[in-house]
Amino acid sequence: MLYYSLNHQSPKVTFAEAAVRGQAPDKGLYFPEHIPQLPKGFIKNIRSYSKEELGFIVMKPYIGESIPDDVLKQIVAETINFDFPLVKVTDDIYSLELFHGPTLAFKDVGARFMSRCLGYFNRHAYHHTTVLVATSGDTGGAVANGFLGVDGVEVIILYPSGKVSPIQELQLTTCGQNITALEVQGNFDDCQAIVKQAFMDADLMGKLSLTSANSINVARWLPQQLYYFFAYRQWQQEHPPVICVPSGNFGNICAGLVAHLSGLPVKHFIAACNANDAVPEFLKTGNYQSKQAVATISNAMDVGNPSNFVRILELFNNELPALQNVLSSYSIDDATTAATIKNVYEQHNYMLDPHGAVAYYALNQYLNSRAHLNSPSEPVPIHREAGGGIFLETAHPVKFPDTVEEATNTKIPFPESVQYLQGKEKKSIVMPASFEAFKEWLMKR
Ligand SMILES: *Cc1c(COP(=O)(O)O)cnc(C)c1O
Repeated sequence: MLYYSLNHQSPKVTFAEAAVRGQAPDKGLYFPEHIPQLPKGFIKNIRSYSKEELGFIVMKPYIGESIPDDVLKQIVAETINFDFPLVKVTDDIYSLELFHGPTLAFKDVGARFMSRCLGYFNRHAYHHTTVLVATSGDTGGAVANGFLGVDGVEVIILYPSGKVSPIQELQLTTCGQNITALEVQGNFDDCQAIVKQAFMDADLMGKLSLTSANSINVARWLPQQLYYFFAYRQWQQEHPPVICVPSGNFGNICAGLVAHLSGLPVKHFIAACNANDAVPEFLKTGNYQSKQAVATISNAMDVGNPSNFVRILELFNNELPALQNVLSSYSIDDATTAATIKNVYEQHNYMLDPHGAVAYYALNQYLNSRAHLNSPSEPVPIHREAGGGIFLETAHPVKFPDTVEEATNTKIPFPESVQYLQGKEKKSIVMPASFEAFKEWLMKR
């Protein structure tokens, strides 16, 4: 399998090269030459495979010859060595819980897979690679945890001071070893701007072998397909599920669409957004307008110009009607999100995080609206869309304690798996929100 740049001005590369580079030299995103089709009988027999076998079968065509089979099997097994349970919330709505990994958010899978791939590509340590990553909270922890102790790779995380939750900050700043946390006196956009500028800076690029661990990297993007297979394996209903994904940079849902185009049965996809509504607006009007990100309580989705959306367009040959057949999108405001956390907790005894709440609400709304479409002569919906659906619960509520505890009036217990963080000492380097300051610091190291 080769990967081409969506800007079409750079040569095709292998998986290994795409993963090491992050972005093509022409600044385009890498995209697989074709979408491999699942082996015959795979879906019918999906329950007969272990999740490790399933992960290997799905990922192998994308990796090609870049990694030998025995190493890839090991990488996949280490990447997914925790649970991905599908939990019933209402009669027809299920939660796919993706927060059982080490940093309590779904980004663990992409970060663990990518770090192990880079570790393999760097196994002779000919090069020393520096990974730069900007985070609004979850990415940094997942990347730090995934790369901790990987030989030949140094990770520098830029996070906005005071704008991540206490657990997130501990996850970012207490690793030590090859992980350095920069506490930037600005917002997430400032962090991202510094990282972007670093990749365009000749001095830095000349001195260091820099790569990015943001979701544009194919090694972070593609393994996210596995969530959708794990969901389907646990789905007991007759009809394929509607799947709703809380979306920010649209990497996760784009991976789901890839899984579907390779043969995974999904009735419909929904991209649930907060007030950052570039994609919902596009699907409604056909007009794409990138916007300034606005801050919300589901802050991991505060993205004004989602970087993976070009990949979704490519999957559908830029044909809007074809895309609309498969994908709907909703924008949900903060008041509705908080009310959803409260209502679902009171009525169904299930604690959502703000991102999962956006997705729950969008899915519920879609199931109702479909009922209306199914019987256009009826003035109000009488039956919901048959079969029901799944939303992706992308983070543990304890990562967003202020919002969730206020909405539910309940103290969230600190999960056992992160209790080791309590009492650890934060180590960060405070930095003004200025590229010049960052560059000077990095050049001097
Ligand atoms: C990153 C993140 C998202 C958004 O995922 P994308 O792949 O960027 O669309 C949603 N929820 C949580 C909790 C996240 O950390």
